[in-house]
Amino acid sequence: MTDLTYADIEAAAERLRGAAHRTPVLTSRTANARSGGQLFFKAENLQRMGAFKFRGAYNALMRFDAAQRAAGVLTYSSGNHAQAIALSASLLGIRSAIIMPHDAPALKVAATREYGGEVITYDRYKEDREEIGRRLAAERGMTLIPPYDHPDVICGQGTAAKELIEDAGALDLLLVCLGGGGLLAGCALAAKALNPACRVIGVEPELGNDGQQSLRAGRIIHIPVPDTIADGAKVTHVGEHNFRVIQRLVDDIVTVSDAQLIETMRFFAERMKIVVEPTGCLAAAAALHGVVPVAGLRVGVLISGGNVDLPAFARFVA
Ligand SMILES: *Cc1c(COP(=O)(O)O)cnc(C)c1O
Repeated sequence: MTDLTYADIEAAAERLRGAAHRTPVLTSRTANARSGGQLFFKAENLQRMGAFKFRGAYNALMRFDAAQRAAGVLTYSSGNHAQAIALSASLLGIRSAIIMPHDAPALKVAATREYGGEVITYDRYKEDREEIGRRLAAERGMTLIPPYDHPDVICGQGTAAKELIEDAGALDLLLVCLGGGGLLAGCALAAKALNPACRVIGVEPELGNDGQQSLRAGRIIHIPVPDTIADGAKVTHVGEHNFRVIQRLVDDIVTVSDAQLIETMRFFAERMKIVVEPTGCLAAAAALHGVVPVAGLRVGVLISGGNVDLPAFARFVA
């Protein structure tokens, strides 16, 4: 296994050209005043299907050979990767099947079906989705593209940080939402290549700090399914490909509380007029609540997604 490099991110960017949106970089005087830093928000809530996951999924499917295209793609996901695979597959004329938890947000399940994906549900507290995925892939001959532990997924996700740094200029610090580590690993690859002095910090939910524990222990730590409103970060462990990059390039991993996520959702809705899902608020919450000191720094902040049921959104921001 060779180490991923920035050249792999550049190749992914070429594959995504004309397919993914180059999302805007937003600024807010209020956010700057409140944090003391100069914050550059990469608005991946405005990406196709509402999250950065389109990047990794489309990049992975673009690398399929003719036989893989004919047999189709299979995945498991708590939501956004499912939509990303379903949409990318339908754009490329590939069949998709998605294994989703029975308690996934209704919006995400419905959107996955609308994008043309076949949805297969499982009980996330009793069954192992990776085992189900392997079995179905073998039975149907489909290629499994997992949500984060895959080089092509990591490199697709990294194009978000490439664009952010190209558009905002050099950064002192990059804050990235962390679940399984696809976004963090990819963004670290891009940031450290374009801007070696830029510190890269991952942000996890307080109750799901497996990444933080892993970085400190020097090996991947498994935890029970965390209880958090950040459903996109309800993972039990970071991926192996991801951890290799994170260990090599990520400076630190910090955590934020659900209360801080809710307050950040409110800030985005009220002050910046954007809908951001709880998981999408992780990085911003760390900057806006002083979890990571940002005073006087130029800081890139990944807003990772905006897919939240409206009734849930209304409850959070009320
Ligand atoms: C998947 C997801 C994350 C976490 O990304 P990883 O690559 O698994 O670390 C963060 N935010 C949103 C909105 C997501 O969909």
